[in-house]
Amino acid sequence: MTEPVFQRLALIGIGLIGASVALAARRAHVVCHIAINSRTGETLRRAEELGLGDSYHADAAEAVRGADCVILAAPVGASGAIAAAIAPALKPGAIVSDVGSVKGAVIAAVQPHIPKGVQFVPAHPVAGTEYSGPDAGFAELFDNRWCILTPPEGTDPEAIERMHDFWRRLGANVETMKADHHDLVLAITSHVPHLIAYNIVGTAEHLETVTESEVMKYAAGGFRDFTRIAASDPTMWRDVFLNNREAVLEMLGRFMEDLTALQRMIRYGEGDKLFDLFTRTREIRRGIIAAGQETAAPDFGRQHGKGGEGS
Ligand code: NAP
Repeated sequence: MTEPVFQRLALIGIGLIGASVALAARRAHVVCHIAINSRTGETLRRAEELGLGDSYHADAAEAVRGADCVILAAPVGASGAIAAAIAPALKPGAIVSDVGSVKGAVIAAVQPHIPKGVQFVPAHPVAGTEYSGPDAGFAELFDNRWCILTPPEGTDPEAIERMHDFWRRLGANVETMKADHHDLVLAITSHVPHLIAYNIVGTAEHLETVTESEVMKYAAGGFRDFTRIAASDPTMWRDVFLNNREAVLEMLGRFMEDLTALQRMIRYGEGDKLFDLFTRTREIRRGIIAAGQETAAPDFGRQHGKGGEGS
């Protein structure tokens, strides 16, 4: 059997992503001991009932003591406070990482607390579902998905290599990029689509001429897939938008310009232009399927309750 990558892994936060990391790490035998912390006793108890770890700690600093890898898996807005709380207990030579959907703001919040001799290798597994909490986790979540590492300049290459190895063995394909580029790419591939979903479901809720029961009844017309995305965790997504403000606003600006152009095509009956655009977008969908990031099966090929797009 291949050697574990880390002796002791500490997970700070044990929701969908933390629990999936625990289960995937166990499946791949990449760690010997998993220490778990959650903000509330309730979630920590649930993690213990599910057998996600080897030790459970009400105090985050206690959880990281002796760990050679610490992964922050709480909403991104909590990253700075967690880093401040665990910093004094970090073992020299440890690697601190995270799974946050935003990277620039997390680096700005966490890096000042990282002690000398500890390496910080931020990560974002681009995999998720609209479910949250420890019960939502599953070992296959990262299989054939991408995990993006955004190490700040000057990070020890060996620490980057170990995190690369860790995620590879959890089933993910691993890519390294600069944090600001990550934030721009994810703004268009994940953050703005979520905002559009939240908005369109909100618009339907406000309609007066179409009843709620009609919305439910005819949801298969496209609306249903938006409602799945719009069911994503409110805390997590509030933090994503507040912490990736500039990139989201930039992409949203472009989106609105393009939407206005579409509005004009419809108003002036420019069918050829609409047809050309829809032909190009169909190719993008086919490209995603060809890249193995989606299947062509109906219902987006998802098993109910599992798998979804990354965030
Ligand atoms: P989740 O299922 O809601 O779990 C959140 C965890 O963080 C729980 O253990 C929760 O503790 C803890 N937590 C919540 N607020 C906290 C706070 N203010 N301080 C400290 N701990 C807090 O969330 P998740 O979906 O796993 O997301 C975790 C991270 O993964 C986020 O940074 C998110 O951006 C990133 N991510 C999410 C997805 C996705 O699709 N969901 C995909 C990729 C990356 P209690 O339950 O005890 O309060």
